[in-house]
Amino acid sequence: MGKVAFLGLGVMGYPMAGHLRKAGHDVTVYNRTAAKATRWVTEHGGTSATTPKEAASGAKIVFACVGNDDDLRQVTCGADGAFEGMVRGSAFVDHTTASATIARELHAVAAGRGIGFVDAPVSGGQAGAENGALTIMAGGEEAVFAEVSPVIAAYARMARLMGPAGAGQLTKMVNQICIAGLVEALSEGIHFAGKAGLDPAAVIEVISKGAAQSWQMENRYKTMIDGKFDHGFAVDWMRKDLAICLDEARRNGAHLPVTATVDQFYSEVQAMGGNRWDTSSLIARLERT
Ligand code: NAP
Repeated sequence: MGKVAFLGLGVMGYPMAGHLRKAGHDVTVYNRTAAKATRWVTEHGGTSATTPKEAASGAKIVFACVGNDDDLRQVTCGADGAFEGMVRGSAFVDHTTASATIARELHAVAAGRGIGFVDAPVSGGQAGAENGALTIMAGGEEAVFAEVSPVIAAYARMARLMGPAGAGQLTKMVNQICIAGLVEALSEGIHFAGKAGLDPAAVIEVISKGAAQSWQMENRYKTMIDGKFDHGFAVDWMRKDLAICLDEARRNGAHLPVTATVDQFYSEVQAMGGNRWDTSSLIARLERT
């Protein structure tokens, strides 16, 4: 098992890096807020570094899971960036949900240094990261993907190369487009059930066994009915993702009318104070008095 590095110990990165340790890898972590890296080392062993460059130094594979395009640029490029510490023949795997544009840009910068780059956004949420059961959609070269996939397997239930650089991010966009409209429809269904005098929980228990079934329905209906959103995937993150989708659609000519509308609904949820609420909080917008 070789040396690997993990940059960004957030809700997702912290347990993902933990799975790498459990799989027997020599892991060096970096986190902008150093206290989290110290806590991770106390819990899992391994080492922590004070810069991405220091963490990446000598690593065969460097993983990252930070917030957005700008964060990703900060941890890769520049004097203290990971690329500066990486050697030719090593690989960078990015699990951030970011744009396809930055994936292609960093792929080109890495290639110029003889470093492999795979954009590898994830789906499955906090529970998927904690249980090592994420779905990973990747973009990049086959040879680099083949090299990193046995290591990624520590926290993935499914990992697939979707095409060249950026293809992983484009696939994640499809994922978010599908979820946006679905969660609004689920919100409207539960809201309607209540207004119609039905027991919303009983309704969902029945229809989730039929054609309306979805992950969101099965995993979120109880908390949606109870109006509890202090968990899960934050509205702020979803708006970041939908902005990426809408921007890409402007470029490729796709029509995303429902996605654009739901994005506006999320802006109303933010105005209600729901920036960190789970994305299922679309129902709160319908239920407000
Ligand atoms: P999070 O808990 O907010 O963690 C973000 C991590 O990135 C933190 O470690 C943060 O460091 C670090 N970071 C942010 N900006 C940075 C910068 N400029 N330089 C260095 N480090 C920086 O977020 P998360 O929920 O783990 O999500 C991470 C990514 O995965 C996002 O792109 C998100 O869209 C995606 N994702 C999340 C989920 C989910 O359910 N949460 C599911 C799928 C995909 P600090 O500790 O210093 O803030």
